[in-house]
Amino acid sequence: MESDQYNEPTVIGGCSVPVRVNRKSKRDPTVVNISGVRIGAVPVTIIAGPCAVESYEQLLSTAEAVKKGGGVLLRGGAFKPRSSPYNFQGLGKEGIKMLVEVRKQTGLPFVTEVMDPRMVEFVAEHADMLQIGSRNMHNYPLLIEVGKTRKPVLLKRGMMATLEEFLLSAEYILNQGNEQVVLCERGIRTFETTTRNTLDLSAVPMLKHLTHLPVIVDPSHGTGLRWMIPAMANASVAAGADGLIMEIHYKPEEALCDGHQSLNPDEFFLLMSDLKKIAKAIGRDLAEEISL
Ligand code: PEP
Ligand code: MN
Repeated sequence: MESDQYNEPTVIGGCSVPVRVNRKSKRDPTVVNISGVRIGAVPVTIIAGPCAVESYEQLLSTAEAVKKGGGVLLRGGAFKPRSSPYNFQGLGKEGIKMLVEVRKQTGLPFVTEVMDPRMVEFVAEHADMLQIGSRNMHNYPLLIEVGKTRKPVLLKRGMMATLEEFLLSAEYILNQGNEQVVLCERGIRTFETTTRNTLDLSAVPMLKHLTHLPVIVDPSHGTGLRWMIPAMANASVAAGADGLIMEIHYKPEEALCDGHQSLNPDEFFLLMSDLKKIAKAIGRDLAEEISL
């Protein structure tokens, strides 16, 4: 029997890897191109920005900090999946317009969440990358709809999803002909209560082992604790993540959403210099330039 890695059994530890996302179906890792920003190549890609778009001033100031710190892609939710219907739900279409304007000002492409299959066309028209949030990883009509677009997709792991279920959701998107999918580990629910979620860093090497798709980590939702983000961000890069998505806010204490897990600009700058050292120590670097 050959010992070649491409001849390993398809079922690994009880996880059956679907065909299109399966690493065996493709020799080279997938590199996703988001308006010139690549995820899945050697350099590690840093995505940062506020949890939610709150105002033009908030978004622009935060985006300027992202750029200054070396982030290459801006995040910001306009359609927010809030657990409570009484919390700030996002600015909707207005928020998307602000993201477009801030992209013009800073040159940073942006990723933003789409929650409703009926909004996919509108969001895809404006955004550089579509985010499917944790709560919607199992929303199959939504996965099919984003799969019909040719926009890169950031698929976040469901908070109660196994890696097999996660990969099956990615398969839905690829099945529609859209192969530009990035997987994001963002923490899962366990019996632990000290952190918002349990960040499953073992998912990083396991997913890299099972699929050719790029894998990034969200240490903000993964911990829910601002002070813990640097440690888990550094560990994610050391574990082989192709990128990070992190919440930063120009004034976290005034944030309408997730301020407690948002870094301020100075904390972000400090973290970026550590991340660069770790990336270099493992033969990578931080992605710097937008190469259109
Ligand atoms: C987000 O990234 O804005 C978000 C809501 O995260 P998640 O879907 O992972 O909870
Ligand atoms: Mn958030």
